[in-house]
Amino acid sequence: MRARIAANRGVRYGIKVMVENTVQKATPVTKPSAGRQNWIAKRVNTLRFQVLGIVIASVLIPSFLGGWFASSRINDLLRNQVYSEIEARTQRLSEHLSDWLMIRSSEVQAFTVSYLLNEDLKNLQGTKSREEKEESRKNIHSYLTYLLEGNKLFSEIMILNSDGSPLIAQPLKNWQAADRVQEVPDQGQFISEVMTKDGSRLMLIQKMDLGRGLSPNFFTALMKMEHFQNKIEDLAPEGSVIYLLDSEGNIKAANVELGEGSTAPEGALALLHENEERSIYRGLQGKEVIATSAMLEEPRWGVVLETSKKEALEPLVIFRRQVILMALALAGLFLVPALLLARTLILPLEELSRVSKRIRSGKPGLLVKTRIGGELGEFISTFNSMSVSLKDSLEEITARNEDLRVMTITDPLTGRYNRRYIEDYLGRELELANRTKDPLTILMIDLDHFKEYNDTYGHVAGDIALKQLGKVLVQTVRKTDVVARYGGEEWIICLSHTGSKGGVQIAEKLRKSVEKSVFQVKGQETSITISIGVATAPEDGTYYAQIVEAADTAMYLAKARGRNQLQVFTGSDSS
Ligand code: GH3
Ligand code: MG
Ligand code: MG
Repeated sequence: MRARIAANRGVRYGIKVMVENTVQKATPVTKPSAGRQNWIAKRVNTLRFQVLGIVIASVLIPSFLGGWFASSRINDLLRNQVYSEIEARTQRLSEHLSDWLMIRSSEVQAFTVSYLLNEDLKNLQGTKSREEKEESRKNIHSYLTYLLEGNKLFSEIMILNSDGSPLIAQPLKNWQAADRVQEVPDQGQFISEVMTKDGSRLMLIQKMDLGRGLSPNFFTALMKMEHFQNKIEDLAPEGSVIYLLDSEGNIKAANVELGEGSTAPEGALALLHENEERSIYRGLQGKEVIATSAMLEEPRWGVVLETSKKEALEPLVIFRRQVILMALALAGLFLVPALLLARTLILPLEELSRVSKRIRSGKPGLLVKTRIGGELGEFISTFNSMSVSLKDSLEEITARNEDLRVMTITDPLTGRYNRRYIEDYLGRELELANRTKDPLTILMIDLDHFKEYNDTYGHVAGDIALKQLGKVLVQTVRKTDVVARYGGEEWIICLSHTGSKGGVQIAEKLRKSVEKSVFQVKGQETSITISIGVATAPEDGTYYAQIVEAADTAMYLAKARGRNQLQVFTGSDSS
């Protein structure tokens, strides 16, 4: 019997036991050293992490790749445009300078076309008298003075003989230009640099053919470098550095202040010699520059334009910044709805996982609250109804188990506790009494001449009488006392915390109650009496069989002594 009850309990707790086993399996024992790794692995394994990862990656990667591709393509285009603009600017600059110098050459040429000058020069080479030659020399002198006064650009003018030796100079200064005469081309014009005692000058030479077998003269005008420099400054684009340099890298003029003997950066020289379109290097003022160059026709000087790289490429930086901002905005624009969408999927699934864990740990009937529709919504509503059914089933099983339990401990005829129950109960109570040294009394009750009663009124009447007796017994004792039908017409009553004296009083009370009770049989009033054996633990017995035996012995004594009475067990009487 006990085994069966235990088995029933097993069924009753079966689900929980199973669940506990499952829970143990689901949470493996973690080694402390691998704690952090495990924590990371756990996070990575969550749906939230994975979905968010996919959403972020699928939005960010395309928008940034797209942005990067577009910006690098457009960047190249813009950069090339900046370069070609700078190159064109350099070209224009050198053309302007060449034109300006050409105009200055034309002015010099205009000085030489004077009829009187030509006549006087012819006189100097001819067979004129000394006085006449002196006169011509004076004329030329005053002409040169007149020219210098009328033209602020030229500082000195000198007319040379065909071998380059000076003929007449104004002011009367002397400078070496003989070698330059050789370089004058057939067209008769030449521009070159010349050193004077007062510094470097630009020298413009115009050949003068006097005809009729006479040697040519050379008309030379010197221009101070500062005029040339002023022109460069006028032409220089804002923020850029322009300088002219000869083939050795000596800077001839620049639009910025230069120290004594400044030389051009190596990059500039390389640019001129290697005929590159542009070069990026640390420029004349130490900043990183994009340098472009062009050659002047005469003198053969290089024009170098240095444009600040930072300023020139500023639009590119702004453009790149704008592209990044746009990519970010675009990503944000897609990311927000994508994240919201992911959230609507993740939240119900997380709730589902949370609720299922709680159900698994013994809380069936819990519901996942969500308003999501579609397949997920359907799935969750199925899950919810399964949770409710699980709860209903478990409740039903529990109720049935309770019914079974009640059935196994109840006497079907009288509805009172049966022998199985009183055995269990007494066993437990005796153990407790032994521990607490608290007395416990049991009454063994047997109906007097009940066979006769049955024979007289019939078994049905006997059954009804047994039922009524059970009621009388229960009503007479305290609520905490347990009344059980031990078998046939025998009853056991267990009186906890009651000694022999108290037990005797209750036994007597019971005997009287039964004696007084009227048992109706088909309109006829009948009566019943009982014999009671009283035994008390621990003196009469400390375990179940012993105490029941003692009470039984006492009860038989009561029978023997005439029935309708009680007898207390005394070891010696028991025979
Ligand atoms: P006494 O105990 O006074 O010596 O006489 P008795 O007639 O009661 O003798 P005993 O206890 O030996 O008899 C038991 C009788 O109780 C036998 C049976 O007819 C009757 N009985 C036992 N169980 C039931 C039951 O469930 N229903 C009915 N109607 N009678 C029962
Ligand atoms: Mg009997
Ligand atoms: Mg009897």
